[in-house]
Amino acid sequence: MSAKKNKKKSKEQENRPLTKKEIEYFKQKLIKTRKEVFEELSYFKDEFFGKSARDFSGETSTYRQHIADLSSDSLERETAFYLSDAETRLLSRIDKALERIENNTYGICLNCGKYIQKARLEAVPHARFCINCKNEMEKEKT
Ligand SMILES: [Zn+2]
Repeated sequence: MSAKKNKKKSKEQENRPLTKKEIEYFKQKLIKTRKEVFEELSYFKDEFFGKSARDFSGETSTYRQHIADLSSDSLERETAFYLSDAETRLLSRIDKALERIENNTYGICLNCGKYIQKARLEAVPHARFCINCKNEMEKEKT
């Protein structure tokens, strides 16, 4: 890997609270990903359940409302049946991230309490841990 010549001390850039604008940006990103997973899902559901899935995908406005209210519990439970483990986990992480946005704790590492680097959130908007903690955890695993 070629090291970037960016020797600018980017600490300030990397370890600081997110601005409202940035949080809004990540919120939209999370909602978009969530929607995509649900769309995949309704297709998936369609394969198995035919008509009913079309009703499901027709409920876009209600569905959006759900997201807006963050009261997607029942919807999530309903669809969880048809989801793979990975998708379920992804959705629940996205939901948790959206919850953290509501609670103003988004972008803070759940392990060490430091701010998660913006670049990391860019790659994984639902990230719960900063890159340091994540690396530590991965090391422990292997
Ligand atoms: Zn951490």
